[in-house]
Amino acid sequence: MDTDVLIIGAGPAGSVAAQMLNRLGHKIVILESQQFPRFSIGESLLPQCMAFLEAADMLDAVGAENFQFKNGAAFSHAGKLTEFDFRQKFTPGWGTTFQVPRGRFDQVLADTAERSGVTVHYRHKIVGADFQMPGQARLTSVDADGITREWTARMVLDASGFGRVLPRLLDLETPSSLPARQALFTHIEDRITTENYDRDKILIAIHPEHHHIWYWLIPFGNGRSSLGVVLPQGFLDARQGSPLEILRGLAFEEPRLAELLANSCFDTPANQIGGYSANVSRLAGDGFALLGNAGEFLDPVFSSGVTIALKSAALAAPLVDKQLRGQTVDWQTDYEHALRKGIEVFRAYVEAWYDGRFQRIIFEPSQLVSVKAMVCSILAGYAWDETNPMTQRCGKRIAAIADICPPL
Ligand code: FAD
Repeated sequence: MDTDVLIIGAGPAGSVAAQMLNRLGHKIVILESQQFPRFSIGESLLPQCMAFLEAADMLDAVGAENFQFKNGAAFSHAGKLTEFDFRQKFTPGWGTTFQVPRGRFDQVLADTAERSGVTVHYRHKIVGADFQMPGQARLTSVDADGITREWTARMVLDASGFGRVLPRLLDLETPSSLPARQALFTHIEDRITTENYDRDKILIAIHPEHHHIWYWLIPFGNGRSSLGVVLPQGFLDARQGSPLEILRGLAFEEPRLAELLANSCFDTPANQIGGYSANVSRLAGDGFALLGNAGEFLDPVFSSGVTIALKSAALAAPLVDKQLRGQTVDWQTDYEHALRKGIEVFRAYVEAWYDGRFQRIIFEPSQLVSVKAMVCSILAGYAWDETNPMTQRCGKRIAAIADICPPL
């Protein structure tokens, strides 16, 4: 065997799982197709992430960077502003986190794992997988020079994110329950001087006419910000111009963003991504498990992606350890079911966002008082907290609360 565990991808899920398993005494190799640092979308973390970084002993390395402090989320629509301070959440635990350029954040995590003894091979793309032989997985990689290599491992964790390596190779892909949407995004020099603007919060702004079109403004610690817009698939067909011009034009249709970005410098071409919601038929099988985005990805609106990725790593690591020590593991119950419980909570809130119910709730302060701390917990990433009533039968609860709120 080349290694105990081979991990595909050095994003947050891969590096955190690698670090946790390395600390449990296993030999870990990560194969990453790109050279780091590389751009990735997904820059606003949730406080729940901090617990997983802490458990992996990676918090000091992250804290040593000059990342933008984050303590909450602000939502704006048609002149109304509503804010959630994560420190006032229902669930105990971390109430603050960071907003991070992912190129640097992911490199910090991968370097920390490497310093602890994990082997990381960059520019090695996995192109084949064979799980026929019990107890021995075989993967095929191609490196940047075109050289093919076979790898053997006792267990494989697929943390390849949108690469979705094993779902494609093993035919595990299934459609998402959510309709396809697209996003346009860039980094800007924001030059925001507006006095009542809080850089410690992500701003989610809703288009004044189309409530299913929304924007994010994620400030970084260096005077720059991530700006993006999420749209229904096909919406851009009627718009003229470069992706950056379209993004800028759309941003200035929203009054709060128009005010904040009046002096901003749009100095970087925009990226476009579509149809990113995805699912799989199962999250684990003989010799492998899928982590983070390689499994299910819902939607960017609640910034839940990295949190789910780290939760998956934290759930999988002790199970892999158990399996490598010869004990029986119930992947279905202890991994798939456990992980999907929180994903289902996020799904209910994502659906309620796009059908407008959640937006009605957050913009109606008087109805929200009794549940604000509970909703705040979800927004802070604590979707697996079963003591929070808003994680239980949440679809019905959201509907009941929305029913007593006036329309947007
Ligand atoms: P990734 O971070 O994608 O890492 C996977 C790694 O695998 C990559 O480095 C890739 O190069 C490597 N790889 C891929 N294929 C191969 C291969 N064949 N061989 C070897 N390596 C391979 N999440 C948030 O938490 N906050 C946000 O604000 C947020 N905003 C988002 C906005 C948009 C528009 C979208 C689409 C997503 C957003 N997300 C956000 C989600 C976030 O991007 C992902 O959930 C998160 O990056 C998943 O982490 P991961 O470790 O699973 O995968």
